[in-house]
Amino acid sequence: SLWAKVRSESPTCLGSRCPYRKKCFVQKARSAVVDAQIVVVNHSLLFAEMADSSVLGEYEHIVIDEAHDLEEVAAEHFGDRITSWNFSIPLSELLRDSVATKGHLPELLAHFTTNFEVPEDFSTTYDYVVSGVETLRRIADALFTDITNKLDLIYRWRDAPYSLHQRFHAGEDVYIATKNSIKRLIDATARFCADLGMLITGLPTDEDDEIDRLSREITGQMTKLAEAGEALKFMLELTNPDAVYWWESPIRQDSIDSVMCWAPLDVAERLFDAVHTQKRSCVFTSATMSVEHDFQYIKHRLGLDLVEPERVFDIQLGSPYDFQSQLLVLYPEFIPEPNDKRYIPLLSDLIAKISAETRAGSLALFTSYKMLKEAYSYLSPTLADEGILVLAQGISGGRSQLTQQFISDKESVLLGTESFWQGVDVRGEALQLLFLTKLPFSVPTDPYFSAQCERIQRGGGDSFREYAVPRAVIKFRQGIGRLIRGEEDVGVLILCDKRIGTKFYGQAFTNSLPVDFERVYSPSELIEKISRFI
Ligand code: SF4
Repeated sequence: SLWAKVRSESPTCLGSRCPYRKKCFVQKARSAVVDAQIVVVNHSLLFAEMADSSVLGEYEHIVIDEAHDLEEVAAEHFGDRITSWNFSIPLSELLRDSVATKGHLPELLAHFTTNFEVPEDFSTTYDYVVSGVETLRRIADALFTDITNKLDLIYRWRDAPYSLHQRFHAGEDVYIATKNSIKRLIDATARFCADLGMLITGLPTDEDDEIDRLSREITGQMTKLAEAGEALKFMLELTNPDAVYWWESPIRQDSIDSVMCWAPLDVAERLFDAVHTQKRSCVFTSATMSVEHDFQYIKHRLGLDLVEPERVFDIQLGSPYDFQSQLLVLYPEFIPEPNDKRYIPLLSDLIAKISAETRAGSLALFTSYKMLKEAYSYLSPTLADEGILVLAQGISGGRSQLTQQFISDKESVLLGTESFWQGVDVRGEALQLLFLTKLPFSVPTDPYFSAQCERIQRGGGDSFREYAVPRAVIKFRQGIGRLIRGEEDVGVLILCDKRIGTKFYGQAFTNSLPVDFERVYSPSELIEKISRFI
């Protein structure tokens, strides 16, 4: 609610009638944008602006950095996520407490009755709207509590340490069980917005600035509620057949914050319409867009293959680093495949031996929290005996806290999952060894991933070769990118997934490495090669 108080949104901004206009940060930023020749924004603002170009205005050229992430960001922005907050925040802006003394509605009532002769039906509608706030709040809370409990009852999400992402469709159990309650919330929202609209229609906004301000504030909250209701309706009716719909359970066990989500699957086509055909030039750049030194995959995913070929150019630029002298890649053949039950004990033992021997800052990247926890429970006591600190994501702290601890203790071992595969920047001695435990294939049950696979299969394609492998290669390259972050960095990458050398798709990964890998046949040989290199 603090964020709601300090942010500015188009529907509620008074614009030229605002008394604070000259001091306003938003207006200053807007004029700076108008005067600027180059504007730097993040992906989120870029896509938010495509729906409402009130800040960036018109522009002809666009450079998108970290473009390997663009498909996911675009899918999220073209889709929607609705939680109980989509209702509770606008409702509390309208009426903050049950005694009805704070919020835009009581402010409007007080100002209007003090300064104007209030029409007879205003008070009646006002009381109706105030009781409607409580009703809508109750219905929304009850619905999302119910969704959260049903997700637990059916899928046992509270047993897992992370948020459950579960696809829904017309035959899915939680969807069937909550369908009528969702419909009830949609109807109640529509009725409430109609009453609210009636309340503010005919207010003397031209005669009084405060009435004008409050009317805009109320309209802004009404728009948010109406949009949330429309989004729920869209998802309830499963309106778009070329889309994926899913639930997300809360992260905290005691929360009711389940999310109802959808994302389109035709992201490439949407990017083509919203970006490629709208700008004179678009540059997509990233250190990890190619797969086996080829851009075909990313061009397809981002809709660049829909553009006339003569308008598309690609170039692969070299790295500023001398990988031949800075990076050693080792492939221990003696580790079993990740689905072998000996895998985690042997891998943990290997990490412990290497750390104890080299005392080099080490990062181990996992693809599942379960594996990470198992490795931690072995490594933590074992390396404690050697005086080496073991840090684990989700156990020892959050990402930024762990990264700081890892940087300051140069012999420590950090175990990370999902968010550590990209964006973590540790230079120098703090990170010299990188263990990639398992090839980072997406979880088959991930809603967006699984729906995209089905879409490719329906179109006659091979989702594993065309989507799962190249997607994993890009993430693999992101993971490797954690190791060499500067010209002075020297590091060893240890590929701990045997499949890289035994399966047909392994080549897609090894061909994407910046240097050739070396096979290693025993732990002692591995330790010896590492010790010689760093
Ligand atoms: S209402 Fe006034 S202070 Fe707020 S964003 Fe608009 S111009 Fe700025």
